[in-house]
Amino acid sequence: MTFHMDREQARKRIEYLKETLWENSRKYYVENAPTMSDFDYDHLMHELEDLEKSFPDLRTPDSPTQRVGSDLEKGFAQYPHRYPMLSLGNTYNIGEIEDFVRRAEKELGESAFSYSCELKFDGTAICLTYRHGRLFRALTRGDGVVGDDVTANVRRISNIPETLSGRGWPDEFEIRGEILMPYESFDRLNRERIDNEDQPFANPRNAASGSLKLLDPEEVAKRGLMCTLYHIPSQVAQFATHSEALDAASSWGLPVSDERRIVHGIDEIEDYIHYWDVERKFLPYATDGIVIKINELAYQNSLGYTSKSPRWAVAFKFQAEEALTRLVSIDYQVGRTGAVTPVANLSPVQLAGTVVKRATLNNEDFIRSMDIRVGDWVKVIKGGEIIPKIINVDLSRRPEDSERPVFPSVCPDCGTPLVRDENEAKSFCPNIDGCPTQIKGKLVHFLGRKAMNILAGDATIEQMYNLGLVRTPADLYSLDMRKLLMLDGWKEKSAKRFLDSLRTSLDVPFERVLFALGIRYVGETTAKELARHFGTIDALSEASMEQLLEVRDVGDVIARSVFDYLRDENHINEIHRLKSAGLKFSVEEEGISSDILSGMTIVVSGYFNIPRDEMKHLIEVNGGKNSSSVSSKTSFLLAGTKPGPEKIKKAGELGIRIVSEDEFMAMLPSKSTFRPDIQEPTLF
Ligand code: NAD
Repeated sequence: MTFHMDREQARKRIEYLKETLWENSRKYYVENAPTMSDFDYDHLMHELEDLEKSFPDLRTPDSPTQRVGSDLEKGFAQYPHRYPMLSLGNTYNIGEIEDFVRRAEKELGESAFSYSCELKFDGTAICLTYRHGRLFRALTRGDGVVGDDVTANVRRISNIPETLSGRGWPDEFEIRGEILMPYESFDRLNRERIDNEDQPFANPRNAASGSLKLLDPEEVAKRGLMCTLYHIPSQVAQFATHSEALDAASSWGLPVSDERRIVHGIDEIEDYIHYWDVERKFLPYATDGIVIKINELAYQNSLGYTSKSPRWAVAFKFQAEEALTRLVSIDYQVGRTGAVTPVANLSPVQLAGTVVKRATLNNEDFIRSMDIRVGDWVKVIKGGEIIPKIINVDLSRRPEDSERPVFPSVCPDCGTPLVRDENEAKSFCPNIDGCPTQIKGKLVHFLGRKAMNILAGDATIEQMYNLGLVRTPADLYSLDMRKLLMLDGWKEKSAKRFLDSLRTSLDVPFERVLFALGIRYVGETTAKELARHFGTIDALSEASMEQLLEVRDVGDVIARSVFDYLRDENHINEIHRLKSAGLKFSVEEEGISSDILSGMTIVVSGYFNIPRDEMKHLIEVNGGKNSSSVSSKTSFLLAGTKPGPEKIKKAGELGIRIVSEDEFMAMLPSKSTFRPDIQEPTLF
């Protein structure tokens, strides 16, 4: 409320709001880890706008009401935007949409124009420039004036065309839109992060913007991002309306949403809003509202812009679903690497279509900084996120007997005193080879799809452990039919299937075996880098700290963890047993490495008998380089079934050879057919 504030009070409040909003803007855009809900952020922003309206002389150009939040980061080249990249005015209140319509009608004359209603995609903004029909540059919004150059990463997003199809595109133009991470990719990524004990992303928006800023385009390719485009910022002479421009963009092969509608008047706008408020829950990606734009470009022009947003558009935002409930107790869970994580048990509450009973509490510092206590009423959100999160404590309802949680000093599973890792704000159980939860967690990780891909679930591992059949991954390779039939509900068929999958796992390449070992901080990518750099487990075991630090993306913490792991007697023994069981511990053993493709740049397109990633891996381990676009530097185009027509066309134009999967396989040294026999199990 601004009316009973005097100037001095307003000045203080404005200072506080500016500081809080900029601080949270940095957490949101740069760190991709917001600690405030969007609703609360927007609420504070509206309060600041109101105060600045009442005290216009206190409005300064550095106010967050006057500038868009910046995502600029070190490590990227920056280029200016041809037209500023702005934000959108937004509201959670349908009455304010009615005001927007009334103002537009007053200024432009009733029913002389139409509106384009569109979904408000909840990702991160991107500006693509196409020059002579080819993707030339991709910039983030940055600070609205200059953006970070993420072209190499954007080229790895599969629905963004490298070259345009159809006809009639301007020789050079910009088109803007959103990079999104669909829920499916988001869930997969977060599961992997949780498995690797990395902090999961709070929501698909943060995951999309974090992924777009990765330094390795190969990694970006794996993140399953997609793009949807919604705005051509310049007046392209042949179009009278925004929707015509987007229809044309769609005919040029650019990804434009089919969900947009041209409507007239407030009633049709409200119908669109109400329809999507329900239907958006069935979309495969996150949306956080509806955008309403004046469709005629001439009218857009006459309404113009403020310093921060267009006057011809407004966003209606859906409130993230949240619920208030009681925090009943806190469990402390031990992960596979021994990290102890607090998890809140809540009074069950209905939220975003599911009953929520548990929520993440991150770590001890998070609990302390929010002063969360057992017995408190807490606000829980579940926007796009899979893991519900506590965002607020309602202090007005704090019961007198609420208790400050006491973080355990010993492992809740095995009783070993915990050690605190100051770098990570986490406590760890150091009993890595004796703590049952860690042992089972490591076995589950070892079997995982990205690791050895052995068919057995958590419950099977639990049983195997309880029966004393397995303690370490090497024990799995000593299992036989007799032992497997001891498991509840296991018949000969299931046991045989399991033994078959153990046998197939012997083909898993060294880099995945290394990942499967579950060395702390060694995720899939680091395992791959280490395997390629050192080639064999022996070379890796002998590597000094300095040599480990030479590997891409390996810093002190990872190097120390690998170094220590490979000097531990139990681990040396385990690796020895896994080697004897026939697992691959060197790149050569995979029987696929050579320098036969050295100096060649190869473009892969279409589907193959092996996953495309493996095809690229084959190229790399045989000395070749992968590239995503055909150019005069391409040595050949490796085409599977359904290759990209543009790539084939381009290769034809440049006279570049097209090689089939069979021809390619014939080029490579023949794969080793050695298969150790594990039919005769050893007992242990
Ligand atoms: P915004 O996300 O509210 O709206 C503007 C953006 O919407 C555009 O930049 C564009 O990227 C996107 N968009 C999606 N679909 C669109 C479509 N069909 N047409 C046009 N644009 C479309 O604004 P913003 O400036 O990117 O971010 C501000 C918002 O971010 C705030 O309102 C707040 O909710 C959130 N935020 C939250 C925090 C926090 O701590 N939680 C901090 C900073 C910002």
